[in-house]
Amino acid sequence: MADLKITLGDITKSKVDAIVNAANTGLVGGGGVDGAIHRAAGKAKLDAACRKLGGCPTGEAKTTPGFNLSAQYIIHTAGPIWRDGSFEEDKLLKNCYINSLKQAVAHDCKTVAFPSISTGVYGYPLDRAAKIAVKTIKNFDAPLKVEMVCFDQKTEEAYLKAMK
Ligand code: ADP
Repeated sequence: MADLKITLGDITKSKVDAIVNAANTGLVGGGGVDGAIHRAAGKAKLDAACRKLGGCPTGEAKTTPGFNLSAQYIIHTAGPIWRDGSFEEDKLLKNCYINSLKQAVAHDCKTVAFPSISTGVYGYPLDRAAKIAVKTIKNFDAPLKVEMVCFDQKTEEAYLKAMK
């Protein structure tokens, strides 16, 4: 069982082995947390590394170095865009967490930080996403220390509620 804690802050500053990026399927840097990660890691180097990966289908995850970050790796996962819940959004979001955690294990990481995948521009209902994230991380069978790094208080509250 992975160990999970909820924090408030900026994921680019996390002192962990790997941070997860809420990317897009093209792995072409966007806004939000993706933009912040690309800026902090070094845009030119991270863009070049991402281009070599040739995209990432929704729910899957691919890894690059962390470049200028404290984190050694960036695990890029493409979250589902929320429509109305009938387009396998829940399953795809769960897959993002599982496949990112699998990448972390494959790269021998012991500590991983996640942002709140899909709950920004992708419009996923926050409480619903938080429940899926917490349950999936806690049920993941590996000795990982995982941190959910929430960027605002509303997000932190939703994840703390989901922990209960
Ligand atoms: P998505 O497209 O998957 O919805 P967003 O980047 O729009 O991704 O939003 C995902 C979450 O990341 C939101 O809760 C947003 O507030 C948060 N976020 C934005 N910048 C950062 C950051 N530097 N560290 C952690 N979380 C961040």
